[in-house]
Amino acid sequence: MLGGMSWESSAEYYRLANELVRERLGGLHSARCLLYSVDFAAIEHLQAAGRWDDAGALLATAAGRLEAAGADLLVLCTNTMHKVADQIAGAVRIPLLHIADATAGAVRAAGLDTVGLLGTAFTMEQEFYTGRLASHGLTVLVPEAADRALVHAVIYDELCRGIVTASSRAAYTEVIGRLAAAGAQGVILGCTEIELLVGPEDSPVPVFPTTRLHVEAAVNRALAAGSA
Ligand code: GLU
Repeated sequence: MLGGMSWESSAEYYRLANELVRERLGGLHSARCLLYSVDFAAIEHLQAAGRWDDAGALLATAAGRLEAAGADLLVLCTNTMHKVADQIAGAVRIPLLHIADATAGAVRAAGLDTVGLLGTAFTMEQEFYTGRLASHGLTVLVPEAADRALVHAVIYDELCRGIVTASSRAAYTEVIGRLAAAGAQGVILGCTEIELLVGPEDSPVPVFPTTRLHVEAAVNRALAAGSA
């Protein structure tokens, strides 16, 4: 697990991976895993400066350390930093399990093809993510500009700092409602902290929580390979 972006969601990755392995294997079984957790301030600084190559290099180095420590599957615990997924994957021999592939698989398995997407502005507005979803045959709807700004601000100003408020939940619920009214059959919670704020009860259509779906895909793959 290459996490720390933010650690609020990496803690969920760790908890969910262990819960899922216990569910599948029972008893005292838990997930054999490694977590390399970065300083998110450094990553956020590079994002804001548009220095994606530098952020990618930093994460590629971290991925190499996970590989050297014995990891045989790489899980990048953020949607946004999948912008540099190729740079990271290119630095290691172990496979990177792409969060958008895991998510799109769940959307298709639910029989849906038109989804709303919530995430950081980078995730909602850039091809690296929406294009990856589209490559799975999905039509992706994103909120209008003012709603995107709100969703983005809540992620960096609140959720990544451990702040979860009823007012932001209500605001997200309204954004989700507008996506559903625009034709979204489901909504992707495309930032790993969003499921700390909203869940199925806050949406008129099914939600697809990327942290949980990413962990499920990783556990499935690891158990199939006999390495969980
Ligand atoms: N965890 C968030 C995501 O899934 C945002 C933090 C980041 O910029 O990596 O996109």
